[in-house]
Amino acid sequence: MNNNNNLFSLSAKDIITQKTDPKSVIASLTERINKVEDKVKAFVRKPKINPAAKPSPKTNQPLWSIAVSIKDNICVEGQLTTCASKILSGFHPPYDAEVITRLKNAGAILWGKTNMDEFAFGSSCENSCYGPTSNPHNLDCVPGGSSGGSAAAVAADETIMSIGSDTGGSIRQPASFCGVVGLKPTYGRVSRYGLIAFASSLDQIGPLTKNVYDSALLLNTIAGYDHKDSTSADIKVPDFTKSLGEDIKNITIGLPEEYFTKGINREVKIAVDTAIELLKKKGAKFIPVKLPHTQYAVAVYYIIATAEASSNLARFDGVQYGYRKDTGQGLIPMYRATRGEGFGEEAKRRIILGTYVLSSGYYDAYYLRAQKVRTLIKKDFDDAFKTIDCILTPTSPTPAFKKGEKLKTPLAMYLSDIYTISANLAGIPAISIPCGFTKNNLPIGLQLIAKPFAEDTLFKIASAYEAETNWCKIKPKL
Ligand code: GLN
Repeated sequence: MNNNNNLFSLSAKDIITQKTDPKSVIASLTERINKVEDKVKAFVRKPKINPAAKPSPKTNQPLWSIAVSIKDNICVEGQLTTCASKILSGFHPPYDAEVITRLKNAGAILWGKTNMDEFAFGSSCENSCYGPTSNPHNLDCVPGGSSGGSAAAVAADETIMSIGSDTGGSIRQPASFCGVVGLKPTYGRVSRYGLIAFASSLDQIGPLTKNVYDSALLLNTIAGYDHKDSTSADIKVPDFTKSLGEDIKNITIGLPEEYFTKGINREVKIAVDTAIELLKKKGAKFIPVKLPHTQYAVAVYYIIATAEASSNLARFDGVQYGYRKDTGQGLIPMYRATRGEGFGEEAKRRIILGTYVLSSGYYDAYYLRAQKVRTLIKKDFDDAFKTIDCILTPTSPTPAFKKGEKLKTPLAMYLSDIYTISANLAGIPAISIPCGFTKNNLPIGLQLIAKPFAEDTLFKIASAYEAETNWCKIKPKL
């Protein structure tokens, strides 16, 4: 049993099974935020606590009184939502994102807005107009990105669960850097209504949690068809918690040779190899697989993602949303000044790159070709999944890096996503779970990838691994 002082470290599963008093949990989380948030800076808007508010009476809602923190690119009615960009300063959405409606209906407490790279452009949470978030395991290191604030808030026990978004790895890579569980669902599984778009054909909302059970529980709440999102899949949502703890004896896992070559950090490789041995002992069978178009994934991603981003960001013009810089010289100078001052450096880089690859004369050579290679990348996975249930890879080639280390070299930063972006290009689900620590106490993550709508397979394997290890329980010293 937990005493009052460490209730903040509970998972949703603990709270539900131990029937912990929600008011005490919230009080404990508040104390925790007061103690560590100045160091971690996970939130762009800390949870608002009304001491006079009475806890809502006990209900059977699945997330009743559980604190869930929200990435700042997800609209909450009437609450400032900025995507960590100056251009959205003052933007109060008039509606809730579909995931927010579902969280409210499930009884969750919306627990603050978390920091991110501006418009989710980045892998380190440093491209934020609010300044960087720190990795709770080592404050000199980045928490990963772009959902770095969400991952750090969970790792630092400032929240119970959080919601992020993943366009090329933005849930899984920070989960791996911070030692928590992060899931990118199948494209179409979770409604994107009210998620401020980065790259609409790649974006998915998903959970960042303290363990695999919580991930399944949170996915249960947010998944499901939504007519407001034209790409939402009308497919039945199973109870994902049911697949936890199932035996993995008949599971075949593929190891893609292309992911285990040069560039992978030694300690990451050792941790992943050790995890493979453990899964073998539990009965899983491993076979090598080929994903031959992997080598093009980063290039293809940065063409498609920037093309879509440049188009999605066209709406921020000083007229409809947030920030406006009126120079008094008419419309075009106002657009220029607003966008010039409102967007950060990385956003501008992506708008320029995306506009370039979409411009006539270059469209066929870059954008169209990238779309064709994307189809080949997807086909690699389709072929592989004919003989296997799941693919296992490291989540990131390295553990968390130092703040500032990759800020001036965008290409080095882009390579942090080398193992995660293919799942977005193919639209398939993938999870990152903790699988060890480096000698310097930095978490290491392992990624499992499955076929479309087979999140249950991910949960099954992830929970079998988690049951034998204790990585999720190793907390940062803060
Ligand atoms: N780091 C990748 C990028 O900068 C992925 C970001 C994301 O998934 N939102 O585009």
